[in-house]
Amino acid sequence: MDLKQYITIVQDWPKPGIQFKDITTLMDNGDAYRYATDKIVEYAREKHIDLVVGPEARGFIIGCPVAYSLGVGFAPVRKEGKLPRETIKVDYGLEYGKAVLTIHKDAIKPGQRVLITDDLLATGGTIEATIQLVEELGGIVAGIAFLIELSYLKGRDKLEKYDILTLMEF
Ligand code: 5GP
Repeated sequence: MDLKQYITIVQDWPKPGIQFKDITTLMDNGDAYRYATDKIVEYAREKHIDLVVGPEARGFIIGCPVAYSLGVGFAPVRKEGKLPRETIKVDYGLEYGKAVLTIHKDAIKPGQRVLITDDLLATGGTIEATIQLVEELGGIVAGIAFLIELSYLKGRDKLEKYDILTLMEF
């Protein structure tokens, strides 16, 4: 299946000059959403995943159906102040300013093989921060899966130690 036909490119959103890749038109289509999910599930099975971890909010959209299909858990990575129990956190740079991501301290057991999911790999900053959280809790990042890779931003270079699956490249 050619998944790219289900991605809508939105010009100048959220700012002038940005060509936003909108995945909601893929999620809207049951066949396309299932096909994309199944591809990631296949990859996750090869990596013997114990747990799926994804950053809010689109990392949940990709990761939760994968976790359900594998019969493993899903641990959310969220912005500061959103998780109710004890967390660890990481600061990371955004294009303008900084952001903080957190995960519950007991979300991962040391040695668990983790699949990280998100919708899109751009500069790699979000996933680098997510990796830091997983590894600080003793998880093994066994794979990382995205729907989309913006290859011209070279996020992959930042993640060269890790195994990455992307279903589409722009
Ligand atoms: P990075 O941290 O790799 O620079 O940016 C990736 C993050 O920004 C992802 O969590 C993703 O959801 C969001 N993002 C950046 N650009 C786009 C885009 O064009 N489309 C979508 N769907 N998400 C984007």
